[in-house]
Amino acid sequence: MPREPLHDAHGRRIADLRVSVTDRCNFRCQYCMPAEGLPWLARDEILSFEEIERVVGLMVEMGVEDLRLTGGEPLVRRQFPRLVAMLAGLDGLRDLSLTTNGYLLERDADALVAAGVGRVNVSIDSLQRDRFFQMTRRDSLPQVLRGLEALSHHPKVHPVKVNAVAIRGFTEEEALPFAEFARTSAFQVRFIEFMPLDADQAWTPDAVLTGEELRQIIHAVHPLEERPREPSATARIFRFADGEGEIGFINPVSEPFCSDCNRIRLTAEGKLRTCLFSMHETDLREPLRAGATDDDLEQIVRDAVWRKELKHRVNEPGFRPPARSMSAIGG
Ligand code: SAM
Ligand code: SF4
Repeated sequence: MPREPLHDAHGRRIADLRVSVTDRCNFRCQYCMPAEGLPWLARDEILSFEEIERVVGLMVEMGVEDLRLTGGEPLVRRQFPRLVAMLAGLDGLRDLSLTTNGYLLERDADALVAAGVGRVNVSIDSLQRDRFFQMTRRDSLPQVLRGLEALSHHPKVHPVKVNAVAIRGFTEEEALPFAEFARTSAFQVRFIEFMPLDADQAWTPDAVLTGEELRQIIHAVHPLEERPREPSATARIFRFADGEGEIGFINPVSEPFCSDCNRIRLTAEGKLRTCLFSMHETDLREPLRAGATDDDLEQIVRDAVWRKELKHRVNEPGFRPPARSMSAIGG
């Protein structure tokens, strides 16, 4: 049953939902988790597949069209492809995608595709094994590349994107190898600026290697031409002027795209977040488990979304990062 579309008080229509299906992860990326991991949620604290399906279904009735499943590492959640199949069946959903570190893709690619996943982003910060190890604290690049290979056997999963976090002092050296990778493979490469969402709170403004700096490094060797930007698109996309492929830059710190932001997030334990940097969140689990009707839940979601933050304040004096790190939010 269609419901009134979801809007915030700034006139943005909300059509994009990210759901974190677990806070756990098998990697320990420097920019996300501490080496020792984080205190994981207990099993009964995490939304069940049925609870996720109910909340997502309701939001789809309110105009959410794009759903991305993330974590933590979504593929470590038991029977994850079963959840994908449940959600893929929702009427009104246009796009069902997944963000993963790729470690378990070799095992799961076939099941995920059969369940109905449409697009996949794989996070890879370096194409060199030792540097990949340094950033993720796991010596797993060959395993992740086998996962990409397994996905590439499924042409209907398109596009497959490779996302690299851009950190000063590390990613400069990755720019040209990734450009080469983008030119010679079917994968779409995106750099994403380092945001103050690392559990170690080591982020500083200086640690952000901007998309523009990376673009210049690549442009000096492989001239780039910008493509027109689509509404609500977070990436600036450039094509290689000699016609071979394209590469993208997601610049949330140096060029915030908040005014077009149509996204909300649901954490693994059922908190609704209206901005990556929200200081407030709205609990949906308690009402879900206390017998709230769909109309009750709709009202809670609508009120929370109405108060969606105008913009993030990362570049303003006095900025404080949220208590949750990226893995606990669902990036
Ligand atoms: N574990 C999966 C993965 O790594 O793809 C999904 C969850 S992860 C939190 C989602 C995305 O957030 C990844 O692409 C990761 O690189 C990115 N990320 C994590 N911490 C970040 C940070 N501090 N700044 C920018 N991106 C970050
Ligand atoms: Fe895990 Fe993804 Fe965070 Fe890396 S970025 S620690 S893979 S949740």
